[in-house]
Order: sequence, then C-alpha cells, then structure tokens
Amino acid sequence: MTAPAVLPLQFDNRALRELPVDPEPRNFRRFVRGACLSRVAPTPVGAPSVAAWVPEVAAMLGLPERLDTATEAAAAAVFSGNATLPGSEPFAWRYGGHQFGSWADQLGDGRAISLGEVHGPGGRFEVQLKGAGPTPYSRGGDGRAVLRSSLRELLCSEAMAHLGVPTTRALSLVTTGEPVVRDMFYDGNARPEPGAIVCRVAPSFVRVGHFEILAAHGEQQAHDALLDHVVRHHFPALAALPRREAALGLLREVCRRSAELVIHWQRVGFVHGVLNTDNLSILGLTIDYGPYGWLDTWDPGWTPNTTDAHGRRYRFGAQPQVVLWNLVQLANALYPAVPDVPALEAALEVYEAVMTPGLEAMFRGKLGLPGPGQDGTEEEEDAALVLGLGEAMSAAETDPTLLYRALAGMVAVPEAGSGRDGAEGDADDAALWGVIEPALYDAEATRRDHGERWLGWLRRYRARLRRLGRQDDERAAAMNAVNPVVIPRNFLAQEAIDAAEQGDFAPLHALLDACRRPYEEPANSAFARKRPEWARSRPGCSMLSCSS
Ligand code: AMP
Ligand code: MG
Repeated sequence: MTAPAVLPLQFDNRALRELPVDPEPRNFRRFVRGACLSRVAPTPVGAPSVAAWVPEVAAMLGLPERLDTATEAAAAAVFSGNATLPGSEPFAWRYGGHQFGSWADQLGDGRAISLGEVHGPGGRFEVQLKGAGPTPYSRGGDGRAVLRSSLRELLCSEAMAHLGVPTTRALSLVTTGEPVVRDMFYDGNARPEPGAIVCRVAPSFVRVGHFEILAAHGEQQAHDALLDHVVRHHFPALAALPRREAALGLLREVCRRSAELVIHWQRVGFVHGVLNTDNLSILGLTIDYGPYGWLDTWDPGWTPNTTDAHGRRYRFGAQPQVVLWNLVQLANALYPAVPDVPALEAALEVYEAVMTPGLEAMFRGKLGLPGPGQDGTEEEEDAALVLGLGEAMSAAETDPTLLYRALAGMVAVPEAGSGRDGAEGDADDAALWGVIEPALYDAEATRRDHGERWLGWLRRYRARLRRLGRQDDERAAAMNAVNPVVIPRNFLAQEAIDAAEQGDFAPLHALLDACRRPYEEPANSAFARKRPEWARSRPGCSMLSCSS
C-alpha cells in the first residue's frame, strides 16, 4: 500500500547507493556476508493508532506538527509500516557487537527497519521504525516491541534532547492493536502485552558494532566503503584526508564525543543499562533505550538492568570506564584501515584527556564552583567538596536531583549589615539542615546517624561559596542551568505506562510536556518528587530487563 502525499517526506537513500547491499531479497533469518545492510519491508500490523506525535521532531522532518483526521490516518499507516511513502526503500543494518564483554558476532537490526534517509528543514535524518517485524537479523526474536518499552524509548529520547544530552529522537508512538508475548523476567511467566512501534530519527544509527562485524570477518571492501561513507557524511572535516588518517581522526572524534556524552549522563543521573558495543553510537548519541534508569538515590553501584545484576558491568559509576572499553573495541575494528597499534592507542587517549577534567568540571559546576584551572578555583578544596558530597549522599538514601536544586537555593552570602558572618549555632544548623531535608528519604534517621557529616559538609561548602564571593542569585541561576529538576524518573514512566496500557495516554503527554522544560520548576510538583515507597521494588521502576 502506498501512502497519501499528506506526509511529504523527501527521501534520498544515500546509504543504499553507497554501501554494499545484501543481494538476497527474501526476508529470512541468516548470516549475511560482505554487506552493510539488507533490504527488508516492515510486516503490517492489524490496527495501528497514533498514541504520541512529537511536534518538534515532525518539524525537523517537514511533517505537520499537529495531526488532523486525514494526516493521523496516514501517519498511523506509515509509521506502523503498513504503508510505504514514495521514495522510501526500507532496510535493516548489519552490525555485530560485544555483549557484556563477549563477542556476539552478527546482531544487526533485528526489529528496527529504516524507512530511508530524508531531507527536512532540520537537516538530513534516517527515519527508523523499531518493532516493525522480523528482519534477516532477528535471530530468535519476533521483530516486535511492547508498548511499555516503546513508550519508554520515546519519552526518554525526547527528555534527553530537552536536557541538552546528545540523543536519537522520536517522532511517534503507534500502537499496533496486536499482542506481543514477553517473559518480562525470563522466569517462565510469559504473557501477552500490547504491541507498539516507535519511529526514531537520527542523522545516523551507525554503531561501533557496524565496524566490528566487518573487521571480524575480514570484509575489507565493505569496511572501506563504510568508513568512507561515515567520514564523508558525518565527519566532513576529515573527508579530504587519506583513509588511514581519516580513520584515526574518526577514532579521536568518537572518543571526544563519547566522553562528552558520558559526562552528560553522569550530570543528569542517567544509567543506560546495556552499554554493549552495538549500543554505542559513532555520532556520540545516546542510542537504544532499553532497561535504562535514573538515579532515585545517589548510588554509583546501581544498575536498573536485572540481566546485569550479577556483574553490574553497566552500573552508573562504571559508565566512564565501560565506554572506554567499547572504544578500544572500535580501535580494534579500525585496525584494517590503520594497521598501526601505537597510532590507535594514541587516538584513544583523547577519551581520558576529555573525560578526566570534564567530569571534574561538571561536578564542580553542579555545585556552582569554577572548573579546574578556571579563575577562582581552589583545586584541592573544590575536589574535596565534590568527593565529600558523594560520600554524604551515599551514607543515607538521598535524591541527587532534588539535592542539587536545594543547594542552589542555599543562602551563602549574608546580607550586608545582618551581623551574620558564618555564625554557628543551633539556629544556623537548623537552617542548613532545612536546605537538604527535601532530598532525604528518611530525614530523621539521616540526621541521627549522619547529621555531623552533613552539617560539616554544608558549613564547608558555604564557607567556600563565601570565599568565591558570587551573588547567591547568580550562582543559583548557573546551578539550575546544569541541574535538572524534571527528569523522566523510572516511577513517572511507569505511571504513564500503567495508564497507557489501559488506553489512557494523557499521563504520558503530561510527563512529556514537563520534560520539555527540565530546568524550570514544574507547575505540577508531581514531576519533581522523590521516588514514592511503592516504587522501591516495583518491576519497571527499580528493576528492568532486556525483555522488551
Ligand atoms: P538490544 O540489547 O535491545 O540492543 O538488542 C540486541 C540485539 O537483539 C539487536 O540486534 C536487536 O535487534 C535484537 N533484538 C532485540 N529484541 C528483538 C526482537 N524482539 N526481535 C528481534 N530482534 C531483537
Ligand atoms: Mg541495540
């Protein structure tokens, strides 16, 4: 079925023209050799219906920002894969990957199908349906996705974009009207769940695993083609260089972007959950939202992914090192273009060179302090304050998001003539304590067991702010610009899912809307509250799995 022209997407399928395409036209599961992609059509669904449409992304693509009856029907058909727009030539990418540290060989888009690449007012984008049916890369899977995971992908990718974190975007969420059977915790309790398809959008979905599979199988021609394609279109500053130099430049640039990406994740308290090499973007985007989570308490050892509960390889605090591990795999995979280990190792050093000072500057910035080497910095004291806060937050359950916002509101510089210059005493302690109380899960127990640690840290921080001499309101504005108050917390997403599974998408839309202004105090404080007790151990809130 060809779709009506009410959705004017301008296709230009560059990847199909420039990269080696799998010659097999039939759609069955197989190992593909010597190709970067396979042509494959989405499998139609029974009763598609648009549950969410993101106006910002629609505008980027040149699509209507609001749907009316006619455009809604067309959007449901096209973004479920039931209808094909003129110029669209759907395909699935071939890639490999290291999963949880082990080489898994061919993975590929097992349930994502790209409709093609389009030109729009916002630039050039690949438009991809996730959950659109089986592909040659589906292995044992059904090619489908459930509503809960598709909703989480749409919600989080949009929230990330508004938080200023590089990410793939999401255009739409279309329910399929068909059940999808999933065993959420792999414990023999499979059940049918509502199915859905998310349409995601990015300049490219190329991952580390794209290079790995070609290097692993010695497919030199395809490797050259992919490298040239990626450099030409996504890293044009390197395009004039000989291939070896371009590959080294690419590795340096991916290292730089990945470090910056991880620094953002650590800033906002995001845990990806499955940082396999097939889930690391070459463009430095957050990609593949699965069992991700947001810190409800400051716990660097936390991972939302139950599949990773043993080794906790992808825990919050390990993200910087595990992304470097992935980049080492990228360096190995670029060896066919750069058979020079010292040169590859030197390029990898860019990662630490960006990460180490960047993380430190980011954590100091969250406290309103200057970064290393900047004017007014007190190197040792500022580093100690960052460390001390982490220790205090770890001592008893503390919500880091609410804590940083509370610290921004702290009165540090006494008003002239108030006679208070750091006066200490019970009243002062009570005032300091009042600052952090909203971020504590059990304020009474924390004060009893860790009160001196907290008060000590708060006095030291306030003294430091006084030496820094910045106006309180100016410091608060700077802190609030890097410390979000609204994040799509796990339990908020779960509340939206519970309603959506009953056919009510209003909570999703309300949450999405709050996530559009993550640094502004929300009109509805329900979006800026600590994890409620019911969510502590509820599946979907604290525990997620790869089953999606
Ligand atoms: P992920 O860990 O979600 O990034 O997925 C790892 C691999 O499994 C990718 O190659 C996916 O395309 C594939 N995959 C995940 N779920 C399914 C599914 N339901 N059907 C087919 N392939 C899937
Ligand atoms: Mg993936």
